Amino acid sequence: MSKRDFYDVLGVSKGASSDEIKKGYRKKAKELHPDRNSDNPEAESQFKEANEAYEILKDAEKKAAYDRFGHAAFESGMGGGQRPGQGYGGGDFSSAFSDVFDDLFGDFMGGQRGGGGRRAARGADLRYNLRITMEDAYSGLQKTINVPTAVACSACDGNGAEGGAEPSTCPTCSGMGKVRAQQGFFTVERTCPTCSGLGQIIKNPCKSCGGQGRVEKDRALNVNIPAGVETGTRIRLAGEGEAGMRGGPPGDLYIFVEVQAHELFERDGTNLYCRVPVSMSKAALGGAIEVPTIDGGRGRVQIPAGSQSGRQMRLRSKGMPALRGGGTGDMFIELAVETPVNLTSRQKELLKEFEDLSEDNNPESHSFFSSVKSFWDGMKG
Ligand SMILES: [Zn+2]
Ligand SMILES: [Zn+2]
Repeated sequence: MSKRDFYDVLGVSKGASSDEIKKGYRKKAKELHPDRNSDNPEAESQFKEANEAYEILKDAEKKAAYDRFGHAAFESGMGGGQRPGQGYGGGDFSSAFSDVFDDLFGDFMGGQRGGGGRRAARGADLRYNLRITMEDAYSGLQKTINVPTAVACSACDGNGAEGGAEPSTCPTCSGMGKVRAQQGFFTVERTCPTCSGLGQIIKNPCKSCGGQGRVEKDRALNVNIPAGVETGTRIRLAGEGEAGMRGGPPGDLYIFVEVQAHELFERDGTNLYCRVPVSMSKAALGGAIEVPTIDGGRGRVQIPAGSQSGRQMRLRSKGMPALRGGGTGDMFIELAVETPVNLTSRQKELLKEFEDLSEDNNPESHSFFSSVKSFWDGMKG
């Protein structure tokens, strides 16, 4: 098929100014726009043709090359520093918008971009939410998880063709894996609907996988959760995501860890906090108490006589391990002094006697009431 002259395509004369070229293109683009021509299959190819012509003629350098060499200027790598034609009509189509495409599509076009050759799509990344106890976060754990995923089809060895036949180049996108369409004055690039971006189609799809080269399956994975993880820790298992389409590279599996709240311990980084009730008499007299530790063991803490509620004591290295080495945190014990309730008459008697004797030996209330007194005195003055 020989190519039509670009000036003819846009309906302008050879000596047309850049303004006339732009006008001619706009007119054609409106006329031939796929949205208005859904019933006219020819319009689509004419529309592409007009785009191609305009891409060349709007650019002074390319226009000069075209004026000199004709279509040959843009074929097989010829013509003033052009990249070689990329199968889509030969013109260097992408330059004008490629930066925007990289921004917009860079991420999810992922493995499909760039270069010729195989364009098998990379499999999707998977997310797995794993809830574990704080004890498990402390010690680390080995766990088998079941992940619903896609794995390479064993019948066709992942290539998607029945009997392992070679796939052929997709006619819609000529193997590019993407198609471009004009929307208003923007060129929009999309994954080719015929081949889903693979650039290749299969005449006889594999019966086991329908030509996808992969099948849905629950996979059992043995994962190693290191000691010290906390809520928000992400563990990446490279290559353990979905298998790619037709032998494409697999995605990754991300395990998102959530550590459940603990009944006894509160965590802040590598430190643990535990609130321990102590009797009023023990707080006053002092003595040893036994506290639980996250490793399942017991720690002994000596309470000094006269401890107030809220007093913190530290048990060194009884906290959580740091995720990437670097030691273990501490455990802080916060005393909660309890007022006794449900007193027997004997206890009441003793406490009454105690109160009569303790007029002046309570430092905290002493300083509180002297502040209150000067506050009231100040109000009077
Ligand atoms: Zn298959
Ligand atoms: Zn295609």
